[in-house]
Amino acid sequence: MKLSKRQDTYRHQGLRNQLIKVIRMKGISDAPVLAAMEKVPRHFFFDSSFLEYAYEDQPFPIGAGQTISQPYTVAFQSSLLRINKGDKVLEIGTGSGYQACILAELGAKVFSIERQKSLYDKTRILLSEMGYQRIKLFYGDGYKGLPSYAPFDKVLVTAAAPYIPEPLIRQLKPGGILVVPVGDETQVMTTIHKISETETRREEHGNFRFVPMLEDKAKDH
Ligand code: SAH
Repeated sequence: MKLSKRQDTYRHQGLRNQLIKVIRMKGISDAPVLAAMEKVPRHFFFDSSFLEYAYEDQPFPIGAGQTISQPYTVAFQSSLLRINKGDKVLEIGTGSGYQACILAELGAKVFSIERQKSLYDKTRILLSEMGYQRIKLFYGDGYKGLPSYAPFDKVLVTAAAPYIPEPLIRQLKPGGILVVPVGDETQVMTTIHKISETETRREEHGNFRFVPMLEDKAKDH
């Protein structure tokens, strides 16, 4: 990666402060989440020709037909997760790795699954260059979760799920929280609180738009 891309200048930090103000004005008040987003250089996740888009509150293409989520959405999902330091968190849809870094900055032990091999490979290199070796990345199908690393304190789905995958609820600890956008054209941001092995509570938090959660690993590699 070019050094020019890796620099986090005062200008970038200034743009990031502005972005945090915008997100706060849109209703996010979770101080640790805002602090994490103020810290992680979002432009590192962009190809160098698109750096000027990195600090707009917009989703953006990252290759393989996928997008880095809108900052507001990252903040919203991160707040719903109520991360405590040391939480084991499973993310479905690594994509650029930006959301995984925000969770790591919140003190989570992050496990993240991606079904597109090209994104998995690219993000693995980026996160290791950025010093996030503690984030564990997996190439696989998020519908299945990660049974061998379960149970998790929190599970976050960052793609549009047509339904809530049962294994993800099963792999939550009692007291754990699943955050998942559910739906086809638009999605309802949904939280499942696992009260006990047999009892869950479902809440809905408004409409969002995500790229679809697809079955199985991508076949084009
Ligand atoms: N969290 C990402 C957002 C990526 S968009 C970020 O911060 O950049 C959603 C991602 O979910 C895409 O990269 C897509 O390839 C991936 N995805 C879709 N279905 C999946 C599945 N079944 N398992 C794992 N990843 C999946």
